[in-house]
Amino acid sequence: MQAEISNTANIEICSRCIYDNSVPNISFDEGGVCNYCHMVDNLIAEYHTGKPEGENTIREIVSKIKKDGKDKQYDCIIGVSGGTDSSYMVWWAIQQGLRPLAVHYDNTWNTSIATENIRKVLGALKVDLYTHVIDNKEADDIFKAFFIASVPEIEASTDLALAETMYRAAAKYGIKYVLEGHSFMAEGISPLGKNYFDGKYISSIHKKYGKLPMKTYPLMTFWKFIKWTAFYRIKKIRPLWYIRYSKEEAKAFLEKEFGWQYYGGHHLENRMTSFFHGIYCPQKFHIDYRNNSLSASVRSGKITRDQAIEEYYNKPPYIEPELLGYFKKRLKLSDEDYERVMRDEPRYWYEFPTYKRRFERLRPFFFLLMKAHLVPHSFYMKYCFPVKTA
Ligand SMILES: [Zn+2]
Repeated sequence: MQAEISNTANIEICSRCIYDNSVPNISFDEGGVCNYCHMVDNLIAEYHTGKPEGENTIREIVSKIKKDGKDKQYDCIIGVSGGTDSSYMVWWAIQQGLRPLAVHYDNTWNTSIATENIRKVLGALKVDLYTHVIDNKEADDIFKAFFIASVPEIEASTDLALAETMYRAAAKYGIKYVLEGHSFMAEGISPLGKNYFDGKYISSIHKKYGKLPMKTYPLMTFWKFIKWTAFYRIKKIRPLWYIRYSKEEAKAFLEKEFGWQYYGGHHLENRMTSFFHGIYCPQKFHIDYRNNSLSASVRSGKITRDQAIEEYYNKPPYIEPELLGYFKKRLKLSDEDYERVMRDEPRYWYEFPTYKRRFERLRPFFFLLMKAHLVPHSFYMKYCFPVKTA
């Protein structure tokens, strides 16, 4: 049965999820099922997600983390944003008897909901917080540089800074493990394609389009990345890949247990994240990332494919009323400046200096790091092989 779709002419949609032929590097099998659905199936099979075998594996990993951190103040790091997955991760770690140090990178665009959520969950569980706050003018200068450059990765500086901040906190306290709240079941696997970032990309965009010096931004350079992974040997673990996890159930649980508050949409705990998902990507790049979480919900049977199609193709993403005004005001953009940049031709990462070639040349080295679980499999697949950019 097909939903009533008005906007899907000439679009081929996966027969199982709602990824369509606008998703980079998508292909369909004879049954019309996309390669990303198969990728998720393969991950479930490999990690035994939600099965006793998966639970056993993560239990063994937890024992190892405890053993390695025995005489230390903390045994693992968890990056927190105030969102569902990371809040749940902290609770889960405490249930396992772990002693996490929570780490937050404050890009100064948080909503008060996010800040309150972090405070409520960590306060109730008595978990310490390590925060790196960037100078707000510098943060805005980096965001504005990415906006003016007309590239999609306006949020990349935040993602990479959180990774660097977690490594710094881990090094400071001698911690060897970082737990990540990522769930391929709840979020899907982000397609390999037009999105990319690394430390070189961030500094080259900022050098070209920014005005202020980079002083308080925690930039992860190539050598820092090597230092944290190969020398400090800090491992990243994704527990939600092994256990049964439902975002909906986690939300309800966090609300009840901690007075944690849902922020009304996917990743809307930070205003830059809201701008990225609600306005920037859909309007400038014609990319709507709701397809990741909606497809994940369809694959795991939380909603029907028809419901997801209706939501995705017939309803625009939610935009908070004050958001655009806030964005322009903070970045000191006039309406004309803003409109002009939104109309500018999109540009992409491969037009700027990055570490990509170096990662590809060093593929055998990163293969060894991946085998030692020092870099994620997804890093190896995404960063160490040439990608089709056309
Ligand atoms: Zn699919």
